[in-house]
Amino acid sequence: MTKELFLKLAKKIRCFNKKRYNFSLPKEEYKIRESMYSSFFYHLALNGNAICGENMTMGTRLSLETWGQTSHLNERYCKKCEKIKNNEKYL
Ligand SMILES: [Zn+2]
Repeated sequence: MTKELFLKLAKKIRCFNKKRYNFSLPKEEYKIRESMYSSFFYHLALNGNAICGENMTMGTRLSLETWGQTSHLNERYCKKCEKIKNNEKYL
């Protein structure tokens, strides 16, 4: 095997491994973040950023299952975030 061929093959294997690695990365999960401007107004976030682009948000300990639930606190949920999440498969 020539040196060139060896390097070519090594490069291919590296690419293959990289792809496999990316494929096995866990899917980023949505988190609920609260607006800093108004209390009980929630956004959906990935990697700590609201997906609608709002950047004045803070983390909450709410689980995603509580999204959309309202109580006497009169929680409100960002419509834009919801739309983006629901349409993600079409993006
Ligand atoms: Zn939002």
